[in-house]
Amino acid sequence: MSFLTFLRNLKQKLFNYWSIDEKEIRLLNKVVRKRENNDCVKLDNYRLTILLSFVLLGAFSFLYLAYSDYKYNIASTIEIKPKEIVSISIENPIDTEIPGDYIYENYTLKNGDNLLNILTKEIGLTKKDAFNCIAELGKIYNPKNIKTGQEISLKYRNTINFLNNNIEQNTILEELKLFDDSTLEEYLIYRENENTYSARKNKVSLTTYYNRFIVNIKSNLYMDAIKAGIPAEIIANMINYYSFDIDFQRDIRSGDWFEVVYEGMYTESGKIARNGDIIYANLHTNKNDHKIYKFMQNNNIMYFNENGLSTIKSLLKTPINGARITSNFGNRRKHPILGYTKAHKGIDFGAPVGTPFYAAGNGTVKKVITGCIAGNKSCGKGYGNYILIQHNSSYSSEYAHLSKVNKGIKVGTKVKQGQVIGFVGNTGLSTGPHLHYGIIYKNERINPNRIKSISSIRLSGNDLLNFINEKEKIDQLRSSAINQSQLNKKYTNN
Ligand SMILES: [Zn+2]
Repeated sequence: MSFLTFLRNLKQKLFNYWSIDEKEIRLLNKVVRKRENNDCVKLDNYRLTILLSFVLLGAFSFLYLAYSDYKYNIASTIEIKPKEIVSISIENPIDTEIPGDYIYENYTLKNGDNLLNILTKEIGLTKKDAFNCIAELGKIYNPKNIKTGQEISLKYRNTINFLNNNIEQNTILEELKLFDDSTLEEYLIYRENENTYSARKNKVSLTTYYNRFIVNIKSNLYMDAIKAGIPAEIIANMINYYSFDIDFQRDIRSGDWFEVVYEGMYTESGKIARNGDIIYANLHTNKNDHKIYKFMQNNNIMYFNENGLSTIKSLLKTPINGARITSNFGNRRKHPILGYTKAHKGIDFGAPVGTPFYAAGNGTVKKVITGCIAGNKSCGKGYGNYILIQHNSSYSSEYAHLSKVNKGIKVGTKVKQGQVIGFVGNTGLSTGPHLHYGIIYKNERINPNRIKSISSIRLSGNDLLNFINEKEKIDQLRSSAINQSQLNKKYTNN
């Protein structure tokens, strides 16, 4: 439609709706005619101009609103940042940091853990920061002293940084605390400013409380004790103290029970810093009580039964009769067969082939080598026919170069002190008939002459009086302590 037709139509419409008078229509007609005559069009009709302006303004506004709406819709579908972030990036579009809340975490070091991994992988510190922090710790604490089971407390926060509209998360370590129960010191690394850490150590004062547990044995002493909440090291120690008297494989039955009271050292904040000594235990088995009390003897912690007899039973220094010592422990001698100098890790008793010898103490046979004949130097790795007896979790004894192992002696056999277990021989790396007798203490071969320090003691005189006093104190103390296994039970039942 041409502009001319548009004007014609408009004229008709104006006439219809606005009741424009004839004079005005004529004027408009004149304009139309002028246009028809190709004259320059001059719209001097004031009302028409206003009307056209409104029409154009309306159309323009509509288009503008539609466009803004479109733009807004587009914007709201691609906008993923929360509103606040938008406002922050507008206020400070260069770099803004939002600090997160402090996070407190405790890590107990497992086997194979190291501090660097915990700081970088677990909490997300940068390698540079982690190195700085560890270097600072190194100034007050030897990292070699960090051991499995040690606890590390961390205080840190994660910050969110906006850098040129990029979001970046950073971890800022505020504090690292390490407690060493052997020095009773707490080692503290803390953030001083932007990039530097400082170190400080604090002496921790500990208070001793007594922990008391009474545990019914349902399936297995160790498992039931763990379930009750007794630390593994306390259970291991208790088993060790009883190990000369009780066979934990065979003597413990379901329905038996035990009580244990031990020291717990606590920090001011009430955290357990370390476990102390067992001061009392009673293992009720086979309808009998087996009570033991802690009592110091010559600065050694020892345990005694109610009658003042030590729990540690002696090991025989000489497990053979009528023999003479032909080589002592530790003699640096030229080995008669190997030809080089080697420390001797036992005592040799020279005796004729076939002389019987005894188990040095009660225990369980752990290893037996048989079938070696004299002359085969490498048989039994040089030990020839051989017996190893375990007496408790710390002590074992060994017997080598035997001609024969006694009947019935095999792995698992229970033996009693003084029982004949074998006969002197000349098998393995041996130059003449003799019994090689060795004592192993915690995987190390020690001098059997030292075993007088572990021989059994029966208290008498003043020692016995002091022990009876101590025993009464302990009995009072334990009867006033709460049975924590009952407490635990209550909590788990709820
Ligand atoms: Zn020897």
